[in-house]
Amino acid sequence: MQYRRLGSTGLQLSALSFGAWVTFGQQVGRKQARELLSLAWDRGINFFDNAETYNHGEAEQLMGDVLVDLRLPRDSYCVSSKVFFGAVEHPRPTQRGLSRKHVVEACHQALQRLRVDYLDLYFCHRPDPDTPVAETVAAMDLLVRQGKVLYWGTSEWPAAAIHEAHRVAREGGYAAPVAEQPQYNLLHRERVEVEYAPLYAAYGMGTTIWSPLASGLLSGKYDHGVPEDSRLAQPGYEWLREIALGEGGARAARVRGLRPLAAELGATPAQLAIAWCLANPQVSTVLLGASRREQLEQNLAVLDLLPHFDLALKQRIERVVEGGAG
Ligand code: NDP
Repeated sequence: MQYRRLGSTGLQLSALSFGAWVTFGQQVGRKQARELLSLAWDRGINFFDNAETYNHGEAEQLMGDVLVDLRLPRDSYCVSSKVFFGAVEHPRPTQRGLSRKHVVEACHQALQRLRVDYLDLYFCHRPDPDTPVAETVAAMDLLVRQGKVLYWGTSEWPAAAIHEAHRVAREGGYAAPVAEQPQYNLLHRERVEVEYAPLYAAYGMGTTIWSPLASGLLSGKYDHGVPEDSRLAQPGYEWLREIALGEGGARAARVRGLRPLAAELGATPAQLAIAWCLANPQVSTVLLGASRREQLEQNLAVLDLLPHFDLALKQRIERVVEGGAG
């Protein structure tokens, strides 16, 4: 495993990390969750990502049970939660958002579900137009001072709101956000590469990027339709199916050329797509998702590909996805 600093912090995260969205509590039960976390741990993954909203708290509950079960030393891994959407299916106004009340209560609830005394990372899952940024920054600072949160960050905040959070933190002497958690993959690049470009140097922010495979699309598994047991066939995720495949399957068509290119290198399309994310130095860690062991094994093997990953290969991959010849 490779380890990278989270932005300018001293926190060393594994370059590949592991998250629970969709899978834990829906596709993956206790036995499989144990198998996946255990495999991740054995291969050097030290960051497990979660959120209050994932399967309405069940994903955190499951992860907490497994972390206790595996008896991993608490100082050897990092675990996160995210606050905004709420943990219950139909949240009341105080059960969601980024008010001081919900940020603090959601943290306490996540600690209970995950069965830990503190969160290593706590993210604001989206910006909240109904709460002043200053209130949220102060709430995060409170949790940091109480030792319940070690580092905090944002997820999918517009750059302007992140600038504002840093201004408030600087002026008030508060703990500032140290990381963003944005979507980043071959089909979704703009925010990480363009919008956030000024933030890295200005604030030393790191990134814990999500959906490196665009929900599995970049593995090529949707090249010939939607397999029954796949994410895009899950009940409740019809909205995601439309976004992931694109109108008339346009996004699915864009990734088909990855397979021959991957074959040429003795790799899989998923490995190429993940290696491409890792090649961006602003990426602190690539959050992997997996519904089964073989997927995680395959994705972890991307580390063997990295020594062969140079600028020419990066550009070939980009040309293929942009519709040109590889
Ligand atoms: P990916 O884009 O990598 O999608 C993972 C899914 O793709 C797996 O669950 C599996 O789905 C399929 N898959 C993975 N590897 C392979 C493979 N080698 N071959 C074939 N299929 C494969 O990542 P996620 O979308 O899961 O995002 C990763 C993590 O990021 C999440 O778990 C979560 O922690 C975080 N996240 C954060 C968000 C935010 O707003 N901050 C939003 C979304 C995610 P299946 O087998 O079911 O088809």
